[in-house]
Amino acid sequence: MNKRTLRLIIVLSSIALAGIVFTQVYWVKEAVDLKKEQFDNSVRIASKSVVNQFLNQMSDSIFKEKIYLLSCRKDHLVITDYIQPTLLDSLIDSEFGCMHIGNKYYYGIYNKPSGKFVAGNFENYEEKIRNSEFQFSLYSIYRPGDYYLSIYFPSSTSYVISKMKRMIAFSAILLIVLITSHIFVVYTIFRQKKLSEIKNDFINNLTHEFKTPIATTSLAAEMLVKENINKIPLKVKKYANVILYENTRLQTQVEQILRIASLEKGNFNFKYEKIDIHQLISSVIVSFELRIEKSKARITTKLNAKDSVVSTDITHLTNVIYNLVDNAMKYSPKVPEIIIETKNSKKGILIKVEDKGIGIAKKYHKDVFKNLFRIPMGNIQDVRGFGLGLYYSKYVVESLGGSIDLQSEIGKGSTFEVYLPMKKLKKM
Ligand code: ADP
Repeated sequence: MNKRTLRLIIVLSSIALAGIVFTQVYWVKEAVDLKKEQFDNSVRIASKSVVNQFLNQMSDSIFKEKIYLLSCRKDHLVITDYIQPTLLDSLIDSEFGCMHIGNKYYYGIYNKPSGKFVAGNFENYEEKIRNSEFQFSLYSIYRPGDYYLSIYFPSSTSYVISKMKRMIAFSAILLIVLITSHIFVVYTIFRQKKLSEIKNDFINNLTHEFKTPIATTSLAAEMLVKENINKIPLKVKKYANVILYENTRLQTQVEQILRIASLEKGNFNFKYEKIDIHQLISSVIVSFELRIEKSKARITTKLNAKDSVVSTDITHLTNVIYNLVDNAMKYSPKVPEIIIETKNSKKGILIKVEDKGIGIAKKYHKDVFKNLFRIPMGNIQDVRGFGLGLYYSKYVVESLGGSIDLQSEIGKGSTFEVYLPMKKLKKM
């Protein structure tokens, strides 16, 4: 699938997902609103019923008589004479119970023009009760239209939401699963795509790296089989050397790939023995002699570590130092200037390989240690490699209980710093 189709599919599916999320949120909100409306209606019905029952009691002549007899002011009855707080309380309680209204409420009977309360459980909520949406006129009690029964619910919305919490939670879980899996799928697609690009690059590099020595060796071999070549022993030697050199190169590359393959399989064996790091560095430099001569490179050593003997794996550590020096040479387009420095630190030894080459941009500092990663370099594409060296080096150094760090600035050069503990910390 090409990049554009893939991008289009991802954009379309993301839009569809956003649509589903929006619709779901919309329907949940609608359901909450509906439930709230239902709740409001229940409160209104229950409150109306309370008021009606209350008014019926008022018109009950025996009740009136009772009140009249009880009152010493006879002609000057006030509303508080009519209201029996316990009766009001139990009426509201039973009516709300019938309508399944279970959340906390505060109510009061108050005079609307003056704002004065005459009954209810209004403590600290007077203002809220006065402004409540549930107000019912006690129309025919005493002075008509002045007195109101008002009810205030401190948590009506949260009560409605709590009633619907299962449905809301279920929708939220579905949406989270949907969004997470979408992100995961998109991430995996891009990761796979990147991986396949990296693998393609690797195969291209591999083909190129193998093609050159194969062509050179077959050319040299062709020359050797020519009948009269025995007469010129110098030429025989020259062609044999070419075959040997190219063969060694091929061998090194194949070994590098096989090393990574066995690393990935997890069957890496480390043999610990006491090694003098300074000797190891010297032997690595010797193996670069021909290249140093050819490129006029300058390798300076500052072997300052007083204690340079470490218990470690000589083969793998040699490969690591070789890789670092090899990179320092490869990525120095002018005359390579390399400094190899050692010093003791924190119960271990530090080995620095510094170059004044092209450097590495900060954004790639972590990536260069990843498997098959190569910095895309338009201008120095001729520098060949597989992107395996630093991945292998990091794995080895960490397995030996150490660490590898990079300091680099583009255009100024790079410093790779390997720390190794004096004692082996990890057993492989
Ligand atoms: P490669 O075989 O490509 O050199 P490595 O794993 O050794 O693979 O390095 C990964 C990438 O890190 C290289 O492709 C290169 O872009 C970058 N790199 C490594 N060492 C240096 C260095 N000393 N200077 C600049 N870039 C470097």
